[in-house]
Amino acid sequence: MKIFLRKYKIVYYLLGLLITSSATAQMQLFDLKEIRLKDGPFKNAQDVDLKYILELNPDRLLAPYLIASGLPVKAERYGNWESIGLDGHIAGHYLSALAMMYASAGNQEVKNRLDYMISELAICQEKNGNGYVGGIPQGKVFWDRIHNGDIDGSNFGLNNTWVPLYNIHKLFAGLIDAYRYTDNEKAKSIVIKLGDWFIELIRPLSDEQIQNILKTEHGGINESFADLYIITKDKKYLETAEKVSHLAILNPLEKKEDKLTGLHANTQIPKVIGFEKIGVLSGDKKWSDAAEFFWENVTQKRSVAFGGNSFAEHFNPTEDFSGMLKSNQGPETCNSYNMERLGKALFLDKNDVSYLDFYERTLYNHILSSQHPQKGGFVYFTPIRPNHYRVYSQPETSMWCCVGSGLENHSKYGELIYSHSDNNVFVNLFIPSTLDWKEKDIYIEQSTKFPFENNTNLVLKLKKSKTFSVNIRCPKWAENFEISINGKIQKIETKPSSYVMLKRKWKSGDQISVKFKTSTHLESLPDGSNWSAFVNGPIVLAAKTSNKDLDGLFADDSRMGHVASGKYYPLDQAYAMIGEKADYIAKLKELGDLHFRLDSLELEPFFEIHDSRYQMYFQNYTKEQYKQKHDLLKQQEIEAMALEAKTIDKINCGEQQSEVDHGYKGEKSDSGYDDTKSWRSTRSYISYQLLNKNKSGKFLDISCIDEFNTDKITILINEKPAEIISLENKTIRLNIDKVEIVNIKIRSHDGSNSPRFHQFRILKD
Ligand SMILES: [Zn+2]
Repeated sequence: MKIFLRKYKIVYYLLGLLITSSATAQMQLFDLKEIRLKDGPFKNAQDVDLKYILELNPDRLLAPYLIASGLPVKAERYGNWESIGLDGHIAGHYLSALAMMYASAGNQEVKNRLDYMISELAICQEKNGNGYVGGIPQGKVFWDRIHNGDIDGSNFGLNNTWVPLYNIHKLFAGLIDAYRYTDNEKAKSIVIKLGDWFIELIRPLSDEQIQNILKTEHGGINESFADLYIITKDKKYLETAEKVSHLAILNPLEKKEDKLTGLHANTQIPKVIGFEKIGVLSGDKKWSDAAEFFWENVTQKRSVAFGGNSFAEHFNPTEDFSGMLKSNQGPETCNSYNMERLGKALFLDKNDVSYLDFYERTLYNHILSSQHPQKGGFVYFTPIRPNHYRVYSQPETSMWCCVGSGLENHSKYGELIYSHSDNNVFVNLFIPSTLDWKEKDIYIEQSTKFPFENNTNLVLKLKKSKTFSVNIRCPKWAENFEISINGKIQKIETKPSSYVMLKRKWKSGDQISVKFKTSTHLESLPDGSNWSAFVNGPIVLAAKTSNKDLDGLFADDSRMGHVASGKYYPLDQAYAMIGEKADYIAKLKELGDLHFRLDSLELEPFFEIHDSRYQMYFQNYTKEQYKQKHDLLKQQEIEAMALEAKTIDKINCGEQQSEVDHGYKGEKSDSGYDDTKSWRSTRSYISYQLLNKNKSGKFLDISCIDEFNTDKITILINEKPAEIISLENKTIRLNIDKVEIVNIKIRSHDGSNSPRFHQFRILKD
């Protein structure tokens, strides 16, 4: 890593890109190997992650690659997303997780596995003969079509293959991490050949055709090519990084326009990490300005208290979070995984400590909380719906994206606890750990029980006394910030989101003690509605409310198993605050260890809450409005629950997971978001499969955004013309009586645009 960083820095300086005035103070990461966690919640998360990592079978993860290369498998591939089109995506994440876990924990078995997987991938690449290696089903046929310009891109289906570039980006990133963190030269060789194969793949394509490919979710493929440029210094990779950057996202960001509402959120964030990296490497500020604008909008207008964003995987309107409040599909963990990566990149680029306020908030409240602290399962959605809950993956099942990113999340907590400039140390996070900066003979041990105690202690061990600065982050949330050196209180000036520089001739055994206060406040949702969360310092508080009805708590391989599909508890029955918010803050009774009594509830750090329903957001009414607004909410809940109770299955068109889980296929199809509704249309055909469990549904309702003309489309159910019962209010009702599996296909006549379909819903009556 150190070598890699130096190279990075050389590139950085050679190109004369340094924008900041203090060239010598450019912030840099330490090598993960130089940091070790000490006992505490983060060390526990790392240990539990290591166990989960070792429970996975490398041969099962490799199977899609062997199959795609025509080689015999050594074990069956995993099920779930690993065998319905995203075959091989977890292996890419797994390489990254192994590489970072080896750097963080030094476990030899982890290193052996990484080396084994790289060797097997090299064999697959050799067999393919053209530099390609990947797990995508029927990869050869698929890529040949792309190479020949036969491209039909839609938001997650490219020629009806589920996000192939997203999938292969995971492999690029995994190989790059294997080289970056463990100096694996074979990984470097594979990824360079893979990069060259890709460049050849897109060589005959026009810019327009490439942008058509990029309509489909493609992870951070631009970032991978920027990384290849850092590794090789060959300009062709940076040019490719720019070429595979999605202009439909970049252009509005350059104009400082937020056009994100309705877009699949985690599709966009990795593209922006790529923009930021290209900005740094090319010296063209427009890229990093776009990234910064995106960051500001997402962190300030689109994120909830725990750092997550979006619901049902899509960005909601900034002025309306009600959809998220009602949904069992709250913010997705992958989004925060990527926002943390973007925050880290911006922090390093801009030398600006304020990026760490959001990074830290998300680290404690989303990332740390997204792993089961004993069993190790990973969380996909974190609902903010009061009195709902979360479900966890299991090693043998549930091969979701958030398992891939989850494996990585808990392997790299050391990455930003400290950072450095040429000679100086920066202490960014109050996490028990050691820093061993061998190059400078500086060793620091940090001991703290934060956030359960508001202090941290640092002890320096030096071979000989030397002059340098130790810079302590004064977070935005810290009050009465106080620093002592060897027991003597220092005169310091602090301001929120800054460093306190302690420069002196340090000697071995010197101690730095940091003390501060935190207080609890209520933080409103960004939409200005009357919902807010209790936050103490950087820690979001929530209350356990019930351990009943936790259906599917540990997920199997079933469809939508990543969603906590247990029943909704009515919103009007959740705890609400009536009157002044300040009275509720005053009411909190401290119970110790960040637990507080609030009437019948006990608030505690959200990251400690597992296997339980919980309430994180609370509604606040004035005394005058309470009855009327509460009655209205009650009525809305009754209607929503009645509709759900008679719903057997439903598809939200244009929403990736909903469509994938219903076997979406289509041609010449567009999707989008208008007037608070997602939709899909087609100029050829679309099809889905719904399940009419126990044949209990009688009707299939298709709701549209546009007026509907049945002369211009054909609707087939199980290959036969559908029986139309009614057509009113932009909803068409079809008969599905006594049909168990409903394969629905809609054809558009004469290549004209079909109406924009919003939702398919099977109803009992
Ligand atoms: Zn995910």
